[in-house]
Amino acid sequence: MLAPIPGDDRRSYLFWGTRPERELWLTSLAWHRDSLKVFGFLPRQQSQSVDQAPTLQAPMKPALTISALAAVLLAACVHVETTPAPRTLASPGERTRLVMLGTGTPNADPARSGPSLAIVVDDTAYLVDSGPGVVRRAAEAAKRGVEALRVENLRHVFLTHLHSDHTLGLPDLIFTPWVLERDQPLQVFGPPGTRAMSDHLTAAWSEDTELRLNGLEPANSRGYLTEVHELEPGLVYEDELVKVHAFRVPHGSWMHSFGFRFETPDRVIVVSGDTTPSDELVRAAKDCDTLVHEVYSAFTYKGRPDVWKKYHAVFHTSTVELAAIASQIQPRLLVLTHQLFWGQSEEGLLTEIRDLYDGEVISARDLDIL
Ligand SMILES: [Zn+2]
Ligand SMILES: [Zn+2]
Repeated sequence: MLAPIPGDDRRSYLFWGTRPERELWLTSLAWHRDSLKVFGFLPRQQSQSVDQAPTLQAPMKPALTISALAAVLLAACVHVETTPAPRTLASPGERTRLVMLGTGTPNADPARSGPSLAIVVDDTAYLVDSGPGVVRRAAEAAKRGVEALRVENLRHVFLTHLHSDHTLGLPDLIFTPWVLERDQPLQVFGPPGTRAMSDHLTAAWSEDTELRLNGLEPANSRGYLTEVHELEPGLVYEDELVKVHAFRVPHGSWMHSFGFRFETPDRVIVVSGDTTPSDELVRAAKDCDTLVHEVYSAFTYKGRPDVWKKYHAVFHTSTVELAAIASQIQPRLLVLTHQLFWGQSEEGLLTEIRDLYDGEVISARDLDIL
């Protein structure tokens, strides 16, 4: 039997089983960085049930029995799926950093929060999309040194479209930073429909807001408000650090779906949002440094049920299609996000692109700083 040790964030597992004489043995392996450690095993207590969760107690028997040793060796061969570590590619001198907060999809993959990224210029963060987990991922990025993503600093979000995987974190982004003392309204830029969504969310949490404003909790009077700006294509935002252009992208039957071009003092970053291949995106991404584009595996797509194939073909972009898009744009860096792997590996997905495109490409992970 194999089970993760609860609360242990190393790659630690317990192995246990019964020998013919019904003695329970167990042993523990821990992967910590590159080392494999074998901690030991315990003889079974006469009264202990196999169903009981085994616990390690000192003192442990120092030697391994043959069967336990065999189990350890066998276990060492077991493939353990790990959460890949985020990377930092941005150099310290750069004013603009791209922080991938969530690279997921509607699939509830614990390693990938819902779609969201931050373009950070100096000390200001501009978020794109607000998938589930966005605020906690921002807090994690702040812990890793991106001060602009401290929760109370989350003040601007640009929504590509209103699909639930891109917006389920919006109430979190409206209310949590306020509870943590953001004292300005959240600036929400999004397609038509964003105002209605924001108003509904404000109404849904009105009892909470009332209590915080009028109860014992200290709360400011503006931080839970939103200022909504519904988008038309073109220049939609400008300040001393950034210009943001919105452009329409085709995303199946969505009436309004946008991509964004961010121009900062030292970078041009284009974010596709969810889209099928789009000439408009190719035009908008001209001369960009970084293209962040959604993608699905063309290889594993073949095994999808017909009903889903039909959907993906008109809502999303395959690796083969993206390679052609990137070949036209030639960005300095192509960033894959919102990856639909369907069993394909990260390396396999990259290979699908690299077979057809020779530029720099990375398959983004949550908390990558690029
Ligand atoms: Zn999506
Ligand atoms: Zn979508």
